[in-house]
Amino acid sequence: MTTLSPTSLLLPTSTAGSLPKPSWLAEPEKIWSPWALEGDQLMDAKQDALRVSLQEQLHAGIDIVSDGEQTRQHFVTTFIEHLDGVDFKQRATVKIRDRYDASVPTVVGAVSRQKPVFVDDAKFLRAQTDQPIKWALPGPMTMIDTLYDSHYKSREKLAWEFAKILNDEARELEAAGVDIIQFDEPAFNVFFDDVNDWGVATLERAIEGLKCETAVHICYGYGIKANNDWKKTLGSEWRQYEQAFPKLQQSSIDIISLECQNSHVPMDLIELIRGKKVMIGAIDVATNTIETPEEVANTLRKALQFVDADKLYPSTNCGMAPLSRQVARGKLAALSAGAAIVRKELTA
Ligand SMILES: [Zn+2]
Repeated sequence: MTTLSPTSLLLPTSTAGSLPKPSWLAEPEKIWSPWALEGDQLMDAKQDALRVSLQEQLHAGIDIVSDGEQTRQHFVTTFIEHLDGVDFKQRATVKIRDRYDASVPTVVGAVSRQKPVFVDDAKFLRAQTDQPIKWALPGPMTMIDTLYDSHYKSREKLAWEFAKILNDEARELEAAGVDIIQFDEPAFNVFFDDVNDWGVATLERAIEGLKCETAVHICYGYGIKANNDWKKTLGSEWRQYEQAFPKLQQSSIDIISLECQNSHVPMDLIELIRGKKVMIGAIDVATNTIETPEEVANTLRKALQFVDADKLYPSTNCGMAPLSRQVARGKLAALSAGAAIVRKELTA
């Protein structure tokens, strides 16, 4: 087990997930970027990139570290690629998160996981550091939203199948020494009826029996054009979280990861999940402007009105894969420095 429990430090910092890849691994500042290498060279390069990404997090003073998602092309599709029942050659165009068209693979039969997907990568990360580690997986609802289903023909049925598969993977990640398993559910911000009917329930199925901490990340997406354009239509107050929060408050999930920096989310909505640990996004991933430590601190201070200090985890709004490495490094340092300011105030 790790020497430092994720909760022993006040305001432990982390990122929501992905970090930029080096250009020798994949074309930078792009999602779904193709690999620059193949075969054994690619495998070595992924591990080297993971090492670099980890070192950059440690250097910036990030407390709960991750793999920076260096070994995956995309936070949803890479997991699905390893499953049976999905045909990646049979493509269909669907509207992802009711927002933008994307060419996605097709579910053609019963979905199953023949072998672990990320467990070797997690063991590799575990061997590199004694810091607490967090591992991100896609959530069931976000997975079904990134596919065309010609087999189950029911979003709910497919979500339950994915939840079982995710639970198998999560149990093995826990055994590999992962301290926090996070499920990315940006779809929770869009399909409110589904969230309440079966979304949270399938998420709870995915974490069944886990002893490590569990998190759900709900955001307004990567800083890509389709998302930025959508945000412009949401008006001056973003109250989407209000729909899922009551159900999440009652759920068995430990941590809820939110987008709070430069967003129009009214901070007082967080009151609805009082009692949960909250990862507060204090870094905007949709701009190259690097936050000052004081700006980060301000966001955290506002959040402290609604989250007990021992339950506040400073983080980023979303993944930083589409940003330049230089900007991402600056943002990691700002997050760390901002958290340090507030930590000092709290312990003074
Ligand atoms: Zn996100």
